[in-house]
Amino acid sequence: MASSLLHIDLDAIASNWKALDAKSGPATQTAAVVKADSYGLGADRVARTLLRQGAKTFFVALAEEGAKLRQAIGDGPEIFILSGHMAGDCDMIADLDLTPVLNSPEQVKRHMDVLPEATFGIQLDTGMNRLGLEDADWRALAPSLLEKSPSLIMSHLACSDEPHTGMNERQLAEFTRMTDGTGLRRSLSATGGLLYGKDYHFDLVRPGIGLYGGRPYTDATPVVTLSLPVIQTRIVEAGETVGYGNTWQAERRSHVATVSAGYADGISRRLSNNATLWAGDTACPLIGRVSMDLITVDITDLDGTPEEMDLLNAHQGVDALADLIGTIGYEVLTSLGARYQRRYSETLG
Ligand SMILES: *Cc1c(COP(=O)(O)O)cnc(C)c1O
Repeated sequence: MASSLLHIDLDAIASNWKALDAKSGPATQTAAVVKADSYGLGADRVARTLLRQGAKTFFVALAEEGAKLRQAIGDGPEIFILSGHMAGDCDMIADLDLTPVLNSPEQVKRHMDVLPEATFGIQLDTGMNRLGLEDADWRALAPSLLEKSPSLIMSHLACSDEPHTGMNERQLAEFTRMTDGTGLRRSLSATGGLLYGKDYHFDLVRPGIGLYGGRPYTDATPVVTLSLPVIQTRIVEAGETVGYGNTWQAERRSHVATVSAGYADGISRRLSNNATLWAGDTACPLIGRVSMDLITVDITDLDGTPEEMDLLNAHQGVDALADLIGTIGYEVLTSLGARYQRRYSETLG
């Protein structure tokens, strides 16, 4: 029996990056956000693929992620650490040439105390109130920070998936006001802001989810296929029930397949009686509860017994699955567990 297979199409990631790079235009550099192991898909492989496409700048969340990435991609490309300079990270930042994005007066002080000559970026808070220097801190610190020529000044949009609230415009105006005249390389936008057009591009854009086939970049080429092997099938007579809690009852004589993967593999239990698996291009309902390692599927309407069934594919992407359980594609991707065999496809060159 084959094991559960998470297939990751590196060509699709490359083509999504190129398409986003084309949208951001020649005056704007397109970086790649590969935090959380490239949203669960494997930062080493993704970053090496994007390097070959011409990406030169990468963003991760933590210094540990940056250290691992540096070992995978070698010296040269710039690696920004979004959480900034945290206590204990000094050696990693220095030894592996990582660039912390300083987020607070405390981080500025820490960085200047321990690595006064090392390169850094700055994050400003323009309304999200999560990370970044507030306006007053920035005004106080700007003279001394600007003297050190930070390699980037950035902020982050809180509502880039909601175009009509006015929040994006307010943050754009605030960022522009806080950074005009600094002469620094500027960055405001992730995938969402990138798609709003030129005003939001500045010198560098930071797409993440758009590379991996998720909203809001709805034109993305699909990236992941999740194929789960069928372990066993049985006939269930009308009136019989399937799975924990007897939550599904056969209304007709049914052919039921049990496939290998469950909530321990990041397949939400909220998909119980509420999702579709695919046998090639044919949709089959997930029936009963998702258990820790197993899922049951009604395959009565199929001609034969498939060897595997797909939970994610070109028919049902990460957002479709996310919608079923009231979350976002980001969470679906990053929840995919470690038990899958990962298979990458890439046409080199
Ligand atoms: C995660 C993140 C990104 C990438 O966001 P996407 O919506 O995935 O494109 C960019 N910038 C910051 C600061 C982030 O935290």
